[in-house]
Amino acid sequence: MIPMPKNASACEDCGLCAFGQNSVESNAVDRIAREVARQIRGGDGEGIPISVGVSARHAHVDDETLEILFGPRHALTPYRDLYQPGAFAAEEVISVVGPRLRAIERVRILGPSRSYNQVELARTDAIFLGVDPPVRDSGDLADAESVTFIGPKGAVTLDAAIRAARHIHLRPEDVTRYGFEGRESVHVCVRGEKGVTYENVRLKIDDSYLPELHLDTDDANAADLVCGDTVYILTQKLMTSVGRQ
Ligand SMILES: [Zn+2]
Repeated sequence: MIPMPKNASACEDCGLCAFGQNSVESNAVDRIAREVARQIRGGDGEGIPISVGVSARHAHVDDETLEILFGPRHALTPYRDLYQPGAFAAEEVISVVGPRLRAIERVRILGPSRSYNQVELARTDAIFLGVDPPVRDSGDLADAESVTFIGPKGAVTLDAAIRAARHIHLRPEDVTRYGFEGRESVHVCVRGEKGVTYENVRLKIDDSYLPELHLDTDDANAADLVCGDTVYILTQKLMTSVGRQ
């Protein structure tokens, strides 16, 4: 099975996830209990377990935009490490304004700085701003919606708003082990009262990744998921059995 992370990319923004005081342990116990239950039920009958990281709205900026928003030679200040190695949430936050002239405040910048400018929104955020961003892989800004980034030192209007495609971070060895070679996407199943099946979950593969499913807040909230929850990637066998290739 994919090793369960000790600490998923908890954003602490929702106030629901189990990474606050005293709750890390109970979350870990819960996760172990579910894993034991899964094994008793017969191995991969439910699919391949993977931990959830919920991505609240956030921005990526390049160095030029960072200087416009925060002043000359400004560099991002790491605030908290994220689960994926090298990624961090920065101290710096911005406001994002759309055509309805409403602002979403305190949108956190995730570092390190990039070669592009992007804000990843949930559909609920997009409706609030009055934009209709396409679903894209991070970094693919084709048809991205125009929004204005506002920082303490300046503002800039950019074609930067997307909704991030659901995706799973995997290592090449995981891809081989689970027979996902050549696949671009998988289906992911969530159990429980608000259970759903997510389709078109894209596979992102890199040696540096730690296995984790990334969902935006709308997708996560639809199934009552919080950071660190366990969900199940449907194997080829399970997909075939339910006729969902
Ligand atoms: Zn991700």
